Amino acid sequence: MVKGIGVCPGIALGKVLVLQEEELNVEKEEIEDIELEKERFNKAVLRSKEDLEKIKVQVTEELGEDNAEIFQAHLMILQDPELIDSTLKKIETGINAEYAFNEVVNQTIQVFEAIDDEYLRERAADIKDISKRVLKYLLGKEQSDITSLSEEIILVAEDLTPSDTASMDKKRVKGFLTNIGGRTSHTAIMARTLGIPAVVGLNNITENVKSGDIVAFDGETGEVIINPNDEQKKYYEDKKRIYEENKKELKELVGKESITTDGKVVELVGNIGTPSDVEALIDNDAEGVGLFRTEFLYMNRHELPTEEEQYNAYKTVLEAMKNKPVVIRTLDIGGDKNLDYLKFDYEMNPFLGYRAIRLCLDRRDIFCTQLRALLRASIYGKLRIMFPMISSLEELLEAKEILSQVKEELINEGYEISKDIEIGMMIEVPSAAIISDILAKHVDFFSIGTNDLIQYTTAVDRTNEKISHLYSPFNLGVLRLIKMVIDNAHQEGIWVGMCGEMAGDKTLIPILLGMGLDEFSMSPISILPARRLIRSLSLEESEKISCEKLRNA
Ligand code: PEP
Ligand code: MG
Repeated sequence: MVKGIGVCPGIALGKVLVLQEEELNVEKEEIEDIELEKERFNKAVLRSKEDLEKIKVQVTEELGEDNAEIFQAHLMILQDPELIDSTLKKIETGINAEYAFNEVVNQTIQVFEAIDDEYLRERAADIKDISKRVLKYLLGKEQSDITSLSEEIILVAEDLTPSDTASMDKKRVKGFLTNIGGRTSHTAIMARTLGIPAVVGLNNITENVKSGDIVAFDGETGEVIINPNDEQKKYYEDKKRIYEENKKELKELVGKESITTDGKVVELVGNIGTPSDVEALIDNDAEGVGLFRTEFLYMNRHELPTEEEQYNAYKTVLEAMKNKPVVIRTLDIGGDKNLDYLKFDYEMNPFLGYRAIRLCLDRRDIFCTQLRALLRASIYGKLRIMFPMISSLEELLEAKEILSQVKEELINEGYEISKDIEIGMMIEVPSAAIISDILAKHVDFFSIGTNDLIQYTTAVDRTNEKISHLYSPFNLGVLRLIKMVIDNAHQEGIWVGMCGEMAGDKTLIPILLGMGLDEFSMSPISILPARRLIRSLSLEESEKISCEKLRNA
């Protein structure tokens, strides 16, 4: 048995697919039957096109047209006469298809890469990507593609990028196992959003298993069995059945209030990354959206999303939530979330660097486009706008001032804007927590981002699995800061939520409830278990538990 960090509960038992970048060895050969070679090449191109068509349809269905655009671009590359005709001409000189194609591809890439133009350099990356698919067909290698899978698998990788998870075949991926990552790394967050059992921080799982092996694992305890024997298989099958039964029981809580035995009602809302995640929230009876991480709209693409694209995404979510509150956070890029097309300079400490509101206040063009889209969409539901990573009053006031200017501009252009948009900010930097009494006078709500608040308060990188034992929400300093924020907010008459992973943790919910937290925002799968727990607790008892904890963790 190996043990990692269980980040999304659920039991998985199945066949492994190791996601690995494989070196393709292309040798030059002389061929005799030129026509046959040309046919072999045309077939490989055709099969690749068919794959891409399938992927495009699938991604469009699951994630919308915008996310599928990249595959249309890839299809166009495969229709490019420069690439195809030049390869066929080379084959006519008597050399094998893979060598001819590889040569043409490499020459094209070299030309593109030499030009100092971001757009063309990205085209080079696309060509590299797509040529791999064609070459694999020519070399008779398996496509290690996760966007379209023919059977159910458990995905094993060093790490998964947000784009891997966004484009993968979600119906057939039954689990994730990765070498790196912690509870709040984005692979973990994505796994919970999708409800796929996952264990991260396994160090060398990619070396310990190979594609085709069987693994059984528990996404809660982090225990992984490689090639289980019959008895172990049976154990995991039973565990899976019990887990599924429990899930069914939870469904009975749909439509019920999140209320303690002594009558305290709290709001249980969910975290999402894309408009399509709303479905899971509705399935799990979320009372709203507590955090829409808009940065996912900016990923998996080659340029910034337009105002219109963003407007449509926000409108979709607001409409789908049918007047339930929706907290949309302005762009929080940087840290461990990068965009290839925004050339970030190298930073020694990206988590302490040019990210989130800092970037938005510097790049007004990006910020204002998003604010315009948000305000325009506001009439379709109950919008709450939230600024991330605020570390001082000045920053908050500047962000609010820009928002007012954008609002005025839109009104002058004749747009209708909702009159009751709540404006809030995240408390995820200790300096903000410390001056929360002052900040509370300028916002309608706070949402505590404990994923970052823990890392900044305890000086423990949230993505570093070597020190994950130090990354603790039970750290007394963290708990006291949270209590201080809640008290300061209530003093000023505003509500406080929490959208960090801590809010969905059943060992912490009683403590947070006792501290007076008003809103708990978590991954969709945690909502019903949290409701069951809250309905079994009394506020009075929870207050005692939290007082005890705050004295001595
Ligand atoms: C947080 O920091 O707690 C948070 C919710 O934001 P993110 O995880 O996106 O940094
Ligand atoms: Mg954060």
